[in-house]
Amino acid sequence: MESTTHVRTRIAPSPTGSPHIGTAYIALFNYAFAKQHGGEFVLRIEDTDQTRSTTESETAIFEALGWLNLTWDEGPDVGGPHGPYRQSERTQLYKHHAAELVEKGAAYPCFCTSERLAELRAGQMAAKTLVGYDGHCADLARDEANARIAAGEEHVIRMQVPAEGDCVVHDRLREDIVIPWTQVDHQILVKSDGFPTYHLANVVDDHLMGITHVIRGEEWISSTPKHVLLYELFGWTPPQFIHLPLLRNPDQSKLSKRKNPTSILYYRQAGYLPETLVNYLGLMAYSMPDGREIFGIEDYVASFDIDRVSLGGPVFDLQKLENFNGQYLRDMDTTELLARLKAWRLNDETWSNILPMAQPRLRTLSDMIPVSSFLFSDRLTYAPELLVSADLDAERLVQVLKMAQWELEKPATWTAEVIQSALMTMAEKEEIKLKKFLAPFFVAVSGSKVSLPLFESMEQLGRDLVLRRLHYAQEALGALDAVLSGKKLKKLEKTYIATYGRA
Ligand code: GLU
Repeated sequence: MESTTHVRTRIAPSPTGSPHIGTAYIALFNYAFAKQHGGEFVLRIEDTDQTRSTTESETAIFEALGWLNLTWDEGPDVGGPHGPYRQSERTQLYKHHAAELVEKGAAYPCFCTSERLAELRAGQMAAKTLVGYDGHCADLARDEANARIAAGEEHVIRMQVPAEGDCVVHDRLREDIVIPWTQVDHQILVKSDGFPTYHLANVVDDHLMGITHVIRGEEWISSTPKHVLLYELFGWTPPQFIHLPLLRNPDQSKLSKRKNPTSILYYRQAGYLPETLVNYLGLMAYSMPDGREIFGIEDYVASFDIDRVSLGGPVFDLQKLENFNGQYLRDMDTTELLARLKAWRLNDETWSNILPMAQPRLRTLSDMIPVSSFLFSDRLTYAPELLVSADLDAERLVQVLKMAQWELEKPATWTAEVIQSALMTMAEKEEIKLKKFLAPFFVAVSGSKVSLPLFESMEQLGRDLVLRRLHYAQEALGALDAVLSGKKLKKLEKTYIATYGRA
């Protein structure tokens, strides 16, 4: 197919939280496939969830993918002929397309209240039938629906799904997936606030942006029948779908923060080289035809063959990545190494941030390195007795550290003031004296009881590294297995949400 098609691929992240390593992995495969065929790789920001999307997170996506050199040809920052590339700037387009479907009878306004939907769901759960919309509003007369809309009645737009027959999803890497239409929900396309759902926006954009190959994670397979139907309802040719296997932790579970750092920017801050990370991600679900494990992006692109993707869950192994990185560093000449160290964090900018905090602690110039070394390290090791105190035993401390991880993920910005205010509020809510509350944070962040000012140090380290240190501190307390396993974690999450709101 590619020989006659001008290939266009895309990565379509939602700007919520830190840019995920899974996004880099999917971006790499899209990039390699597009470049290999002389096509374009597009970056689209899917920010239709207005409550969760932030501009900080969007900027972090640009930064993270830019750091990895996975350069996009079109995107919100660089523009292009199919823009705008930010979904929040395309709402009129989605409205227009939804209206077209309603006009055709392929979608319909639904006025069901949340009470009715809750009742419906409860009934379906009790009867153990399929949970989904029952089509109550599908047959409303057009006039009646229009009159209710004109009267200002709240409504959503739903997709009309065939009552019989099967949906067939073609995936280039898999056997056809066949599911009866009765199992596909009448998906909401436009929410009551007028914003599109992911499904509508995603399909409209992939079509209008001329995307020829949708290469994405396998967690989206279950959405694909809805997408296939939308292409059909619009009368458009669907792109080729290629679902890549999800990254896994070494124990085969889905890659998670609990077991591995998942933020791309963590790897930058911890001193990994971008080309090492790209090299390593290139080996996820794939191997070079000649079996080489160390390679540059050009060689990867040149010999890339999407049909050689293997569907077994690729394991993201931090140890292996570290070994790769070590090899890259050892193979570098020292001039290059020095340049990399400077580009990383050993530069005037970092020092000028650190000096004002470190200066009061210096007796000799040689104190500078020991005083500030924790700001340049990745993993610290902790003696548990340094972390616990009479006020915070191991179990309680693990709870506090875990909740702090959730709480510190929330603020859109990461400054000493924001961190201070978050931790002070926590101390209050947890009813622990501030000094006692902060003491273990000092240790978790710096490795010792006395150190540079806490909040400023946290700002300097960056959110991802701080969150990782809180994780290591919990590990040192035995958190992951004994103190905070399964049930206890769920319980803590409930208490946390009740006090602080969702993480
Ligand atoms: N916005 C979706 C995401 O966050 C895009 C999924 C897709 O590629 O269709 O991954």
